[in-house]
Amino acid sequence: MKRRYLIGNLKMNLASVAETEQYLVALRKELFGKRIDGVEIVLAPSSVYLERFSRELPDPLRLAAQDVFWEKEGSFTGQVSAPMLRDLHVGSVIVGHGERRLYAHETDTEVGWKMKSALHENLQPILCVGETADERERGEEVSVVSDQVRLAFHDVSPMMAERVLVAYEPRWAIGTDIIPESEQIFEMRIVIHRALAELYGQPVADRVPVLYGGSVKATLLERVCFEPRMDGVLVGRESLYPHELFRMAHEIGNRDDGRREADGNEVGGE
Ligand code: PEP
Repeated sequence: MKRRYLIGNLKMNLASVAETEQYLVALRKELFGKRIDGVEIVLAPSSVYLERFSRELPDPLRLAAQDVFWEKEGSFTGQVSAPMLRDLHVGSVIVGHGERRLYAHETDTEVGWKMKSALHENLQPILCVGETADERERGEEVSVVSDQVRLAFHDVSPMMAERVLVAYEPRWAIGTDIIPESEQIFEMRIVIHRALAELYGQPVADRVPVLYGGSVKATLLERVCFEPRMDGVLVGRESLYPHELFRMAHEIGNRDDGRREADGNEVGGE
């Protein structure tokens, strides 16, 4: 069965140890007596709280970091390396998030270096790609997103490529409550798979999950996840509410839209 994913990006929220502790208590309470089937839930807290999450995150939830640096160690003030994350039992890491591209001016090439440093340390990269409002206005979304994919996967072997999750996050939908149409999301899913197919061939491309992110709420899952046939969602602000998080997990995990089959391949190509 092809896996589905629910990634919670907690961003620079949970602004104190006390709030973090409250959140973890609420998570455990919401999870109590529930079965999580058919969906992997991965939470990405601020790096300051990774150690606490690593100790206290309830099973079967998994831990991600929000960023990683491309060097392993050395004089790189303020950075966190992939081996450091591995040491804290972090399993995944977000790379190329729109907010890092915006505020830290991260380039596609740097995002590619981060991807490779994560992969070499056996961390699963969650690669965020997506065009800005201006780029979409100019009709450049296909070339922008294709280039982001190509540069991030540059020099990544096919075997490693299959370990990456790609999240299509149009920058104009992050934190804005502006929701793309299902067709727009589906179209970009095809664009991402096409760029991957050019690099690795269709079978490998088909095995790379593509998620949607940008102002996701439980009530929008039909439009942003199921209709455009995405493999899950990346949720920002809404992941601060454990009740909503598990509501989404339940819907995603229990959804059977007939596109999965026993050997893990999708039914029908694009
Ligand atoms: C995100 O953090 O990637 C995100 C999509 O945020 P939000 O859901 O708050 O728009």
